[in-house]
Amino acid sequence: MWEYAPAPESRDIANLKPNYRMFVDGQFVEGSGEPLKTVNPGTEEVLAEVSTAAPADVDKAVKAARRAYDRVWGRMPGSERAKYIFRIARLIQERSRELAVLESLDNGKPIKESRDVDVPTAAAHFFYHAGWADKLAYAGHGPDPRPLGVVGQVIPWNFPLLMAAWKIAPALATGNTVVLKPAETTPLTALVLAEIIQQADLPPGVVNILAGAGDVGAAVVSHPDVDKVAFTGSTDVGKTIQRQLAGTGRRLTLELGGKAANIVFDDAPLDQAVEGIVNGIFFNQGHVCCAGSRLLVQESVAEELLEKLHVRVSTLRVGDPLDKNTDVGAINSREQLTKIQELVESGDAEGAQRWTSACPLPDKGFYFAPTVFSNVSQAMRIAREEIFGPVLSVLTFRTPDEAVAKANNTPYGLSAGIWTEKGSRILWAAQKMRAGVVWANTFNRFDPTAPFGGYQESGFGREGGRTGLEAYLDV
Ligand code: NAP
Ligand code: MG
Repeated sequence: MWEYAPAPESRDIANLKPNYRMFVDGQFVEGSGEPLKTVNPGTEEVLAEVSTAAPADVDKAVKAARRAYDRVWGRMPGSERAKYIFRIARLIQERSRELAVLESLDNGKPIKESRDVDVPTAAAHFFYHAGWADKLAYAGHGPDPRPLGVVGQVIPWNFPLLMAAWKIAPALATGNTVVLKPAETTPLTALVLAEIIQQADLPPGVVNILAGAGDVGAAVVSHPDVDKVAFTGSTDVGKTIQRQLAGTGRRLTLELGGKAANIVFDDAPLDQAVEGIVNGIFFNQGHVCCAGSRLLVQESVAEELLEKLHVRVSTLRVGDPLDKNTDVGAINSREQLTKIQELVESGDAEGAQRWTSACPLPDKGFYFAPTVFSNVSQAMRIAREEIFGPVLSVLTFRTPDEAVAKANNTPYGLSAGIWTEKGSRILWAAQKMRAGVVWANTFNRFDPTAPFGGYQESGFGREGGRTGLEAYLDV
């Protein structure tokens, strides 16, 4: 055994400012809401103060978006819109180190993930959608698909910049204007994206970004002049929004929670599967809607796989998100940490067998050691509810039919994983699984060309790819 020397990324790269303001009609402005303090979950220190929106500010932002839509953006030829979107993509790349460090500070995710996944994938979404802007007539949504108008978008804290990109890029490519609200605990990278949008010379009002808590989100989605709502977050809030919009004729897409099955058949390459399982549940501290949080293992290989898994998970380094050696960073908030602890205690109480990595944890900050529950039964809360943390529940099965039945035994249906040597089994299982995304011999792969979205309580509508454009077009 040898120890790693610390390898911290410099936090100066983040250009952190003491105050951040909202972005409305092309300007950075003070909102009239109560300012919020955003915290570094890795250390519990306050990073910055952010001004928030009051209902009157939401109205101003929607009006600005409407003006921009009517006068400029909705009429602009796609080939012209594309130039702006390409510019945003390139500026994200230019400022990628700054964005990565800022994201890790505000969210707690390891720098290697923000640097290698979040920021490059955000840029890729803008590049991909810029390419569509002048080709919408060939996207299979009719010869002259029209935008919807003003879209209201609300996003969660687990991929703050990437979720903003998932939302804004397709809206702009299709000719809509945007009012977006980032999550209360992670507003900073969305506000730097607003700087980039200003740098890219986007006409004022095309994109507006309002900070604040759930009440600001509620004001955005229920504003009567918003034509379409795109929401990513919890199933509970998604249901509330669906109720609010029912009967209004306004369009809605919901990307909600998940409890994905990651299925390992007895012919799977086990060492590879272990890597995929680790990536599936410990990537981004398990704060992933499509996390492989239910591992289903064929009984004959369960013992061997679990042994390998414990050895591998023991090597994960938990700690300072800015250290380049860190595999698992900080839990995003104290509230989320409490939720994880409560669900883990329910696993103990219901009789599952808990194994926790003996890794050291920092004294300050919100951290949770990687945890694997075995002997889990389908009725337990840890098998049914989304934990949204670094906690894996392991169940077993004997036959392929049983695996599929157990995988589908959930109110969700966002993603699934299959590990097997046989292509025919992959196709068979993928067809039977009620999940929007099915990964085979890999997990947690994100690409702007691939549509993403759920079944049942995981929501409806797709984001990404040609299919994802439909949500922003009047077709
Ligand atoms: P959340 O509580 O639903 O929050 C999501 C966003 O909605 C936040 O910006 C939140 O503001 C805002 N919000 C809260 N109440 C609202 C209301 N009544 N009306 C409108 N907006 C409101 O979810 P979360 O706990 O932050 O995020 C985790 C959840 O998101 C998980 O369930 C996860 O599975 C899901 N998720 C899904 C996907 C997907 O693509 N399917 C991707 C990522 C995450 P505040 O920040 O102030 O609370
Ligand atoms: Mg924060």
